[in-house]
Amino acid sequence: MSVLRCPGCGAELDADSTAYACACGELLDVEHDAAELSRVNFEKGSGVWRFRALVDPAAREVVSLAEGDTPLLYSEPLARFAGLDDLSFKHEGRNPTGSFKDRGMTVAVSRAKLAGAKLLACASTGNTAASLAAYAAAAELPCVVLAPEKATALGKLSQAIAHGARTVLLRGDFDAGMKLVRAAADEGRVTLLNSANPWRIEGQKTIVFEILRERGWDPPDWIVFPAGNLGNCAAFGKALHEARDAGLIDRLPRLAAVQAAGAAPFAAAFERGFDELRPVQAETMATAIRIGAPVSYARAVRSIRATNGVVLAVDDEAIAAAKRAVDTAGLGAEPASCASLAGAARLVTDGTIERGASAVCVLTGHLLKDADANLAVHAENAPIAVTGADELSAMLSS
Ligand SMILES: *Cc1c(COP(=O)(O)O)cnc(C)c1O
Ligand SMILES: [Zn+2]
Repeated sequence: MSVLRCPGCGAELDADSTAYACACGELLDVEHDAAELSRVNFEKGSGVWRFRALVDPAAREVVSLAEGDTPLLYSEPLARFAGLDDLSFKHEGRNPTGSFKDRGMTVAVSRAKLAGAKLLACASTGNTAASLAAYAAAAELPCVVLAPEKATALGKLSQAIAHGARTVLLRGDFDAGMKLVRAAADEGRVTLLNSANPWRIEGQKTIVFEILRERGWDPPDWIVFPAGNLGNCAAFGKALHEARDAGLIDRLPRLAAVQAAGAAPFAAAFERGFDELRPVQAETMATAIRIGAPVSYARAVRSIRATNGVVLAVDDEAIAAAKRAVDTAGLGAEPASCASLAGAARLVTDGTIERGASAVCVLTGHLLKDADANLAVHAENAPIAVTGADELSAMLSS
């Protein structure tokens, strides 16, 4: 049996509840019965649901679009960029809607459908909207998504529209949208599908489970990832804790959460010894992490503390340089994703990650999500127009 548990006051709710927060205000966690698990349990099945026993053991009739099973890629030029020999990339852009959000959405939408939810909703910088739109459509449930009118990449917005979501452009930022949908959820008008929803976290744990399994359950020294609303940071720490409790691994990688300098309240709190979260007005070209008041702050702090992790901020120039490297190496990813490589490179430079260490960077979203960013970051490689054979041959010989 699984239950929803408040990490603050210990209150317990039925797993069938659509509540995401406790009466005391803390976000709820899913807690599963301690099960006898061994590595062979995960040799059958595929994707997120391969890890059903650690995600939602009671799941039935799941809404799935074949999410997960993303590749762990090695790249010589990117290992050189970071200054590491053993660096690989978990490419979450290879999910059905092009971001890791699908992993959480298959679990949370399945749960919402089972609980009889009538209207699904999220605030989003774009990828959550695209993902919820697809999974709600697959579940034959209506959904409404709120995205900032400015700073939402067109690739993501067009996905939400294409999949039939009622798409609301908010004259405000992500944080304002988050407040609005939380209020609507608290009034019982919608079911919240943001990563405040504990089942989203359960699905996103499988990024870590896949990394561990693909490495033969030999944990890397570091897992480095971009951090915005801090759902992944919460999920990764929970996944590692549970993998160790189940006896699947015997040591924990250190987590490195990388924020954009213009949206770095978590990094600032880390520098102050996690005294408190001080929300900021967020601004960065990495729009997927353009978040000033992350909702999963408390559980993300637990993840960083439990793994002896670090939190850092990299500026937009460093993100653009890392994106240039990721794209020209053939992998390709949207700007926020590339904060992970920028962060890894910085941690090697400052000596936090030793050159001989093993590291996995998570690339969170697909290259095509943000076409404007591609043209801006690669402006030096702008296409050349020709009108005929003469001009083409002149170009080819120059
Ligand atoms: C949602 C998202 C993030 C941020 O993840 P959090 O779990 O909110 O910290 C980073 N990159 C991409 C591409 C995303 O879509
Ligand atoms: Zn509580």
